[in-house]
Amino acid sequence: MTDDELMAAIRAETDPGCVVAPAEARGRQVSSLGHQIPDAPVLRPASTEQVVTCVRLCGAAGRALIALGGGTNYAGSTAPTERGEWYLSLERMNRIESVDAENRIAVVQAGVVLQNIQEAAREHGVQFAVDLGGRGSATVGGLIATNAGGERVFRYGMMREQIIGLEAVLADGRVVDLMDRVIKNNAGYDVKQWFIGTEGTLGIVTRAVLRLRAAPNSVQTALLALPSVDDAPGLLNRIETALGGTLSAFELLWPEFYETMCGGPAPPTRAPTC
Ligand SMILES: Cc1cc2nc3c(=O)[nH]c(=O)nc-3n(C[C@H](O)[C@H](O)[C@H](O)COP(=O)(O)OP(=O)(O)OC[C@H]3O[C@@H](n4cnc5c(N)ncnc54)[C@H](O)[C@@H]3O)c2cc1C
Repeated sequence: MTDDELMAAIRAETDPGCVVAPAEARGRQVSSLGHQIPDAPVLRPASTEQVVTCVRLCGAAGRALIALGGGTNYAGSTAPTERGEWYLSLERMNRIESVDAENRIAVVQAGVVLQNIQEAAREHGVQFAVDLGGRGSATVGGLIATNAGGERVFRYGMMREQIIGLEAVLADGRVVDLMDRVIKNNAGYDVKQWFIGTEGTLGIVTRAVLRLRAAPNSVQTALLALPSVDDAPGLLNRIETALGGTLSAFELLWPEFYETMCGGPAPPTRAPTC
């Protein structure tokens, strides 16, 4: 089967918007390291069923796929290789299906952008706890596939701790439905863990049940100057202990960041005394 025939077959079984031809996709950035799509189509399924169709038809034609979220990774795991992969982007699967503040869960499609679920949770008086600088582009699927951490990892844990359930499509087109909705499920193997942090190698995540948390009543932010990065762990431990485990976020800034943002010299540093 030629590439044109494969694209036509996918369009015929999905919809015309599901396939972006190579000429249109070329040059699109797929990682924070600057990797770009060379000469390959981007498949944009709009539902789990369409993901199955793409995977099934590409598999039959011997065409490998790279799952693509917001393309914000620093690992280069979405970089093209000599195998001539096509890209499967979750960008049209960007629906927040439900936010249930009472039971503290949200059901989303994998292409939902992090900032959008953060804002939806906030509107319901709760919060989605993972946060990182790529929030405006990184997707739930990408965050799951990389087991992203971010700035609030001390208090809330990594992405793994925010996933109650998920749905994924395997390489042979089978759909694995692991859409649990309760936190306290200790029955048998926790199979969803296979898809968290495995960068799309074991399947394409299509939907997820996210854990929501109580929103903080108040937030205080402090900028602390340290003589050395080696002083940071001790200081963080002391603050966390003093706050009874409620330190929710931290970010390390190098002197150059401070100078760039504040337009002046780096702040004075001294040994922590708190
Ligand atoms: C300013 C900035 C700050 C950042 N800070 C942090 C940070 O603090 N902590 C941190 O961990 N990361 C951080 N990152 C990295 C990045 O945002 C995360 O790795 C993010 O989880 C990637 O999400 P994405 O949707 O962009 O995924 P992509 O970059 O598109 O893909 C990442 C990997 O996931 C796979 N993938 C994507 N979607 C799916 C899917 N639906 N199913 C299966 N596999 C899939 C891809 O094939 C690839 O292997 C930061 C990035 C930026 C730009």
